[in-house]
Amino acid sequence: MYNSHARLVFALKFLMKCTNPKCKAVFTDEEKTPFTCPNCDSPLNINIIHDKVGKIGLDFFRERTSSMWKFLPFLPLRNAANIVTLGEGSTPLLPASNLGKDLKLKNLLMKNETINPTGSYIDRQISLGISVAKELGFQKAISLSTGNVGASVAAYSARAGFKSLCVVPSNYKAGKIQQIKLYGGNVIQIKSNSEKSLMDLVIKGSKAFNAVNLATTSLYNAFTNHGAKTILYEIFEQLETELPDLIVVPVGGGALISAIMQACLELKELNFISEVPDFIAVQPEGCHPFIDAITMNLTPEEVYANAWKNVKTEISALAYDIPFDYSWFYMLKKQVKGSKISGIVVSDAETRAAQKLLSKREGLFVEMASATVIAALKKIGANSNELSQFNKVCVILTGTGILDVDQETKDISIPPAYPDNLDWEKVMKPYFS
Ligand SMILES: [Zn+2]
Repeated sequence: MYNSHARLVFALKFLMKCTNPKCKAVFTDEEKTPFTCPNCDSPLNINIIHDKVGKIGLDFFRERTSSMWKFLPFLPLRNAANIVTLGEGSTPLLPASNLGKDLKLKNLLMKNETINPTGSYIDRQISLGISVAKELGFQKAISLSTGNVGASVAAYSARAGFKSLCVVPSNYKAGKIQQIKLYGGNVIQIKSNSEKSLMDLVIKGSKAFNAVNLATTSLYNAFTNHGAKTILYEIFEQLETELPDLIVVPVGGGALISAIMQACLELKELNFISEVPDFIAVQPEGCHPFIDAITMNLTPEEVYANAWKNVKTEISALAYDIPFDYSWFYMLKKQVKGSKISGIVVSDAETRAAQKLLSKREGLFVEMASATVIAALKKIGANSNELSQFNKVCVILTGTGILDVDQETKDISIPPAYPDNLDWEKVMKPYFS
């Protein structure tokens, strides 16, 4: 399906720029592609060269396909022959009319990322990350996972014939370890909940064993996160070349919100949109360094020097003591003009309630990390009329709850079993009255 777009890809379609102000090296994709700056090991920014991609008109977004790889012209991969795909992306944008009514929102939309091949939007990042790795000749992958990255790395590694290893924290869910192993991936669990110390191990392993670091943070792999941009392109396509006025995003390391902002800027640069939506970033009460950083307008240096000390949340997928992608976000925030970006924290209890509300009102069982966005809308709506100004509000439902049912539903009781000669009418009646 993507082959029809391969002809649109140009030899020189992206630039990599070192983010270190003292280095400022620039690489084209005609050179050997680095993951971090080969001169100084600093993170790289990838810029798609839009006068090449710009030959695509708005009609490109009116043509539907069945995978995120429709958007190859906007992604930093050279050759479509290297695509490793499980059919990720092309997820539904569903109107949430029941929940919208509860939350007093005119037009609430849910981007349902739970139906991706391993159950989360991370598949978009890893599909791109492993395709780039394949293009560069890698055969091994290593990554840090606090949530869904592990399963995705293992599944796409299986697909690409890579050996893979995931380093996971002590609060990592058992179901997620089992899922990784099922795909033939390997797991090392460390008695630590610090992203920073786990990432240090991943970096060492990556260098020692020539394994691509598929961490979904632009500090260590400039490519993977660009896969998440396709969420926004799809929304643009699904709303018939418009965007919502407000996008609500769960935040851990900050890669997802940054990728979505980057995609907005790309559409703006191509003159496909005139205004960038507003954003609300959501984090758990027990670990919210990113929200603090945007509220206090901290610099990346200040954020990276002060890891969150006491992580206290069940939502491990969002529990980043250091939001690794804050520097990317910080750079984009300066470029996005006229968009209001705010943050809110929600408690685990509010999130659990929101998870149940979403399941009951819309039939979608998402993991707690995703339910934070519903908890946030509920909380904002209860305290102000702030949301009534928005015509279209879109939440990103990042991952399914089904993979870890035991943990996600541990407070739901199991009803007793009846004998087979039960008084069925009496038993059934209360459920329908
Ligand atoms: Zn450099």
